Amino acid sequence: MTGGLEAAVADVLARDACSGCGLCSRLDPAVRMELDGAGFARPRFTAPSAAIPDAEAIFRRSCPGVVVRAPAVPDGAAVHPLLGASLGVWSAWATDPEIRHTGSSGGALTALHAWLLASGRAARVTGAAVDDRAPRRTVPVSIMTRDEALAAAGSRYAPVAALDNPDVLVPGSAVCAKPCEISALRQSADDLVDGEPPLMLSFFCAGTPSQHATDALLATLGVDARDEVGTLRYRGRGWPGRFTATSGDRTVSADYDASWGSTLGPATQWRCKVCADAVGEAADIVSADAWEADEHGYPSFADGDGVSALIARTERGLRTIEEAVAAGVLELAPLTMERLAAAQPLQTERRRFLHARLWGSMLAGRRPPRYPGFALLRLSAAAPRTALRVLRGTARRVRAARAR
Ligand SMILES: Cc1cc2nc3c(=O)[nH]c(=O)nc-3n(C[C@H](O)[C@H](O)[C@H](O)COP(=O)(O)OP(=O)(O)OC[C@H]3O[C@@H](n4cnc5c(N)ncnc54)[C@H](O)[C@@H]3O)c2cc1C
Repeated sequence: MTGGLEAAVADVLARDACSGCGLCSRLDPAVRMELDGAGFARPRFTAPSAAIPDAEAIFRRSCPGVVVRAPAVPDGAAVHPLLGASLGVWSAWATDPEIRHTGSSGGALTALHAWLLASGRAARVTGAAVDDRAPRRTVPVSIMTRDEALAAAGSRYAPVAALDNPDVLVPGSAVCAKPCEISALRQSADDLVDGEPPLMLSFFCAGTPSQHATDALLATLGVDARDEVGTLRYRGRGWPGRFTATSGDRTVSADYDASWGSTLGPATQWRCKVCADAVGEAADIVSADAWEADEHGYPSFADGDGVSALIARTERGLRTIEEAVAAGVLELAPLTMERLAAAQPLQTERRRFLHARLWGSMLAGRRPPRYPGFALLRLSAAAPRTALRVLRGTARRVRAARAR
């Protein structure tokens, strides 16, 4: 079974299907999550394997490079074909102006984190934040106070394995992580958590860019590889806010189009391009950017007061949001899934044509993860010509990548 985990991990890596979530580091202390040559977080066995009992079986049903299962739809939930189930959806923002300003969009997640801790509903919240010792990098963190929640606010568009943190398995925790990480935790929680599973919070995710993209962006701003970096934020402090870094007495920055749009977004890993659940269907609560769409239906990234979209996926998530609102922590306004879908073209188009992409990848010899329950065939079949074009384009790109 021990050799089995190593072989199973190797298979995911060979198929370039690893999302870098860090689940395998919870299954075997010999696994270290490290950056590979392409700048993505990947597991490496650094010592003889000492896997926990049933590690391979847990891995095979939970690793997002192997399988992501669509969760059961809770009673009374509405189901949007592209964005999943919801018991409630709103525009939302933190009532605390400092949290709202610092957060990526409306600071909804940070407001929830701070309130979960202050109200005793969670003993700790795990998330991701700047590595204080090496601010180019991002690390998993355990948050115990409002100030720590504030310090972790804001999206980090770089590799970080959120499950590479033992606290994600401590009963009484809340976990904020990317959708693939939440799926892995949801699938394995019954085996790994000795008590009630953590409250799971997530966000829409366009994909994890290579660490090299952060370094390239810094270089275009005049901070080269040898320069020390003092602080580094990807966005927030405004909506969407600017990528901002300090180096010595210099502060450099780039707007969202130049940072995410031109450098970080195009550098996402392959696994994210074939992701069936980048909208956090396995979470209790999901946050996203509640962009306003422009006249062409595309999101407008004009700076302003941040607004998150908040989705309650489960009864537990709904209860938590209602209690946070009653406590005066969050303010909500009406939002529909249709409007949210219109502001998230990357998410909706990716899911619409994912079935075609998966087939293109398979025909080119690269086996993607399995996605039972997402009804992807029906979505692609509704626009067969585009689906065929996507399939051919994917096959061509995968063949070219495999030939390199
Ligand atoms: C890689 C990436 C891609 C994204 N793509 C989209 C998208 O396509 N559409 C969309 O609407 N929104 C996307 N987001 C989310 C969006 O940027 C905001 O995070 C979301 O609107 C929530 O905002 P907030 O103000 O409620 O969160 P905040 O209050 O700012 O809290 C964000 C929380 O996320 C955690 N976090 C930050 N970065 C990471 C990370 N890399 N891995 C794990 N945890 C992290 C932090 O610990 C923090 O607690 C993405 C975020 C990331 C990190």
